[in-house]
Amino acid sequence: MKQIVKAFKCRLYPTKQQEQRLQKTFGCTRFVYNHLLHLALERKKLSKVAKHYFPSKADFVNSVALLKEVFAFLKEVDSIALQASAEALHEAFSRYFNKQNRFPNFKKHSSFKSYTTKTVNHNIRFVTKHRITLPKLGSVRLKNSFGDALTTGQIQRATISQEADGAYYLSILVKNVPVHDLPKTNVNQGIDLGLAHFAALSDGVFLEAPRALFHYEHQLKQAQRTLSRRIARAKKEKRALHDSKNVQKARQQVARLHAKIKHVRQDFLQKASTALVRAYDVLALEALNVRDMLQSTYAKGISDASWAQFKTMLHYKALWYGKTVKWVNPAYTSQTCNKCGDIDQMNRFGQQFRCTKCHHEDHADTNAAKNILKAAR
Ligand SMILES: [Zn+2]
Repeated sequence: MKQIVKAFKCRLYPTKQQEQRLQKTFGCTRFVYNHLLHLALERKKLSKVAKHYFPSKADFVNSVALLKEVFAFLKEVDSIALQASAEALHEAFSRYFNKQNRFPNFKKHSSFKSYTTKTVNHNIRFVTKHRITLPKLGSVRLKNSFGDALTTGQIQRATISQEADGAYYLSILVKNVPVHDLPKTNVNQGIDLGLAHFAALSDGVFLEAPRALFHYEHQLKQAQRTLSRRIARAKKEKRALHDSKNVQKARQQVARLHAKIKHVRQDFLQKASTALVRAYDVLALEALNVRDMLQSTYAKGISDASWAQFKTMLHYKALWYGKTVKWVNPAYTSQTCNKCGDIDQMNRFGQQFRCTKCHHEDHADTNAAKNILKAAR
């Protein structure tokens, strides 16, 4: 049996009272972050070499205690969460100095709210399978779709968030989660990820992205159109955008749809990757390439944009459950005839594969998946 570190995310159902406390904590952690950022900026003005005068992580965390003396309302919320907020700012600065990030920004009052807290002396723990104790909140109800896997390990940290759709979520990082190998099936599969179908398997089966995604994508486009129309009108009438109720409403609708799409997509990727790892012993895929990366950064569509993430999920799930993912060179997988091995650009017409040499016909993506499986042997 292996033990792994695993991240879980589930819906959280706070009571009205807990909800008030959560909103307060969102506000206080943001306040600490912004206040310390403001101080750091003042400090930067005084010195030409900001890095040398930059506070240490301990300075940041210690200043939280000072802030609490000045702003008494900070004492009402989880102090570890306030410290974590200060640490996050320190981290953002470190990344900036390492040229990994832009200069840290002030946190705005946005539709996405969250804070992170860490376990100290078992203060974060499960009371039952469906209730968790969180600092300053007490026991909060949650939806556990992970069964015992969720409650057996040691919780390291927890992030509580409220997304644009208004729903609350709990993300926890758990150490020492026991995992068992999944039973072997003696079936191997090549997988080609594509745009027309989310994935084509070498046995001819296709995996489709959920229809709900296309439905929401359509709604999102409409909502975005409404938003830009309302912004244009407000500008024309010289009204401030934050005063225009119609603009704000449209903005919320766009954010809500983004959140919905994110959840449907995540759910699909999680379920599909688990199903594949369960059903097959060896999964062959094209190695992560530039195309995947560009997709995840720039893709506008919704059904795509997920390849890199999907490959990562398959990779770690195979490790957990005793299965294998083999990465093959993506060169020519779509142009090679799976039957005679002929490589020709002319072999492929859109979705159709027809070999110019031996006249073998197949769905283009299925043919590619077969080549991927062959290359993994
Ligand atoms: Zn051929």
